[in-house]
Amino acid sequence: MKEILGNISGIRHNTIERLKQLYNEIVPSGQPVSQKIVNTLAALTQEINREIALYINRRGQIVALAVGDAHTVALPDIKEKRSANKLSGIRCIHTHPDGNSMLSSIDFASLKEMRFDSMTAIGVREGTAVAASCGFISGFADGIYKTEAVGPLALFEFINLDHTALIQDIERILCRQTTANTQEEIEQALLVGIENIRLWDVQDSLQELAQLAETAGAVVVGQTWQKRERPDSTFFVGKGKLREISLLCQQCHANLILFDDELLPSQQRNIEQELGVKVLDRTALILDIFAQRARSHEGKLQVELAQLKYSLPRLSGQGLSLSRLGGGIGTRGPGETKLEVDRRRIRSRISTIEEEIDTIRAQRSLHRAKRQESRVPMVALVGYTNAGKSTLLNRLTAAKVMVEDKLFATLDPTTRRFPLNNGREILLTDTVGFIQKLPHQLIAAFRATLEEISYASLLLHVVDGSSTLYQEQSTAVMQVLQELQLRDKPLLTVFNKIDKIDNSHVVERLLREENSIAVSALNNTGIDTLVETIESFFNKQTVDTELSIPYNDSGIISHLYQSAIVYHIDYREDAIYVKASLSRELRNRYGSYTTGED
Ligand code: GDP
Ligand code: MG
Repeated sequence: MKEILGNISGIRHNTIERLKQLYNEIVPSGQPVSQKIVNTLAALTQEINREIALYINRRGQIVALAVGDAHTVALPDIKEKRSANKLSGIRCIHTHPDGNSMLSSIDFASLKEMRFDSMTAIGVREGTAVAASCGFISGFADGIYKTEAVGPLALFEFINLDHTALIQDIERILCRQTTANTQEEIEQALLVGIENIRLWDVQDSLQELAQLAETAGAVVVGQTWQKRERPDSTFFVGKGKLREISLLCQQCHANLILFDDELLPSQQRNIEQELGVKVLDRTALILDIFAQRARSHEGKLQVELAQLKYSLPRLSGQGLSLSRLGGGIGTRGPGETKLEVDRRRIRSRISTIEEEIDTIRAQRSLHRAKRQESRVPMVALVGYTNAGKSTLLNRLTAAKVMVEDKLFATLDPTTRRFPLNNGREILLTDTVGFIQKLPHQLIAAFRATLEEISYASLLLHVVDGSSTLYQEQSTAVMQVLQELQLRDKPLLTVFNKIDKIDNSHVVERLLREENSIAVSALNNTGIDTLVETIESFFNKQTVDTELSIPYNDSGIISHLYQSAIVYHIDYREDAIYVKASLSRELRNRYGSYTTGED
């Protein structure tokens, strides 16, 4: 028979027995805990007026039960053999007899210390569980675990959390962050360009390259360029310049040289051999960014295809190219995959991908319809590199601080949840920026990374209003949207960086464009108006609806709580009746449950 840990002095025999009975309970898979267990816990907590803690493993079995201050209880050794990127496999759920449903700092400390799957506090008042807060590890940086919490949640919401998915997400993140921190040092890049009067201004171009390098995760430590009519066939730059680059590398501790133009495979090998430093070109850099940003299945395939085609002629050298296996820019594939390095396997992978892309194309329309209906409404930020999309994304989500605290399902860094003032929420997503010298082989991959935009309900076209080239850039963006057949999407032009414009007439002229707004993401001007505009756009898109949901599908309820405004809920004998304001997408999705009364 299992024991009760902790301070059980003075507790009646009968109560102890009822506590022990809990060991026979199994939590249904997916859920954090069952309603039945919570009810028993709440009743017993009231009786003994002490905390009760349950420790549950991933099979839903209760492995330990403790009474009193749960944190001092010596648990069976649960940390054994678990590496830093894994959680302990045990979650802790404990009650607070004083009705408080918040997690304490001690709760968070033991969450980190024991690396629990999650740590939940349930507030109990008069023998009933009132609400719960659930804390979990959300990341790992600088050698410490970060934590987040959701709640207090209604008990109903808590019980319906998808706990299994949560844990999977966390472990995926930990795996990436713990390995990234130990293996991949930050790359320090030296930028090299060629000045050629007939082409782009070299400084503009290098500035863009710097942006791209930073987007890919490198730090730019220096830059240099050479005036030449044509690149040198062996080293791209001249011999003298190469020596200068070698010195610069040492001075600024660069471990990566980024060339602003595409290198021939032989040039890349020659330079690496000569300098002993990893060398990449603009194309490889852009591919690396695409690889990190591709979201859709086709996007990932297109990027992988472009990467494989790019790397095929570059495999023959045995020099530093092979050390690229070590990690960093140029080695990352879409998703979690590593780039293939075997020539024969690359060829066969290329043909598999090409076939797969053809199949996807054929199924596209069907696929799109399906995805659209199951999505939380989304706003996509598009625009030129350097227009300020990422800054604006941060600014908008910072305007809604609670987003961070409530972040539950883990989202990738370029998509954020954005709560609307009516209680619903939407997703805001950043996209790969448009780039001047986009290498031709990357155009298909670039388009495919933008495919995500087709699911957006609203596009924010971010334009650097202070740039002398803003019209050209804007036209280029609109052209691509046209080619992607996205010109019919609702679009709001956001002229950014107005803090850099001295002349108010210029701003007035910008605002004469249809559906436009002027902001400064940097110093927060106009952000409130932008938020209001987004909110009023979505407020116009909802429908009041009455649904009758069979008890079998009660999982839908928590989804409605997340993505709709629930006015009223009634647990009747035959079904659950809900009155809510739904987006048109949700309304279509749950159309079969409508009662026809709305
Ligand atoms: P993205 O490539 O479109 O994502 O652009 P970023 O958000 O990375 O911003 C590019 C550069 O513009 C950064 O150096 C930002 O600090 C700067 N920036 C962004 N918004 C503003 C703004 O409103 N005013 C000014 N002066 N600079 C800005
Ligand atoms: Mg950006």
